[in-house]
Amino acid sequence: MTNTTPTPSDITIKPIGLVSSPYREKFAIPRQPGLVTSAKGSIQLIGQANTADSVRELTQFSHIWVLFIFHGTQAQGWKPLVRPPRLGGNKKIGVLATRSTFRPNPIGMSVVKLERIEQRNQDIILHISGMDLLDQTPVVDIKPYIPYSDAITEVNAGFAQQPPQISLSVNFTAQAQQAIDNCRHQLPDFALLIEQVLAQDPRPAYKQTKIDNKIYGMTLYHFNIQWRMLDLQTIEVIQINTSDG
Ligand code: SAM
Repeated sequence: MTNTTPTPSDITIKPIGLVSSPYREKFAIPRQPGLVTSAKGSIQLIGQANTADSVRELTQFSHIWVLFIFHGTQAQGWKPLVRPPRLGGNKKIGVLATRSTFRPNPIGMSVVKLERIEQRNQDIILHISGMDLLDQTPVVDIKPYIPYSDAITEVNAGFAQQPPQISLSVNFTAQAQQAIDNCRHQLPDFALLIEQVLAQDPRPAYKQTKIDNKIYGMTLYHFNIQWRMLDLQTIEVIQINTSDG
């Protein structure tokens, strides 16, 4: 949709950081932060924000808001009505009543855990976990999470009142287990990450109650991970290979 309504002025927003994340493609990224706690990544500050002064005292806060650009879907534009996966993908509601990535301005917001802040030579790197962010996501702002104002308990949250109830079991074949063992020094939580990602059932909503014989692939870090449903409740990780073979 093109915007024909005159606006008071143009606004220019520049990225202040770039995300490094295990999620190298959109498929299988959790639908909100905090669902896959073992996902570890970072935000490298860039430009004028890349200075120790901009994060002075930020480590007082265990969690931060990350405002970012949905750069991976930005080019696809937006529509006023969308179909949230939480409603099974078959009911249309207003985009502003959802957390869809296809928005009038492609801005996302996620609360993530701030693990630590590193100064590496001239660079400031925020180590984070629990994010729902694609690798290389441009970050446009970071703010401390302030529970007295940001965490409201008595609320109506419509179709998202409860966290997703799906929790599938995950098994590994001997090959997959071996691949995990081979990288345990660099990625000690790799098995847990795969389990937490798959337990959410990344498949399209309409597949979730049906017998499914398809073999799926997802990418975490530089690994291609193949998996399939054994039954309605159990996933088997068939094979794990590096993307370069
Ligand atoms: N927590 C954010 C929010 O509420 O604004 C994002 C919610 S959105 C439903 C989460 C999904 O956005 C992820 O599952 C992933 O598919 C997608 N996503 C994450 N980073 C993205 C990016 N940089 N570009 C496009 N899509 C992205």
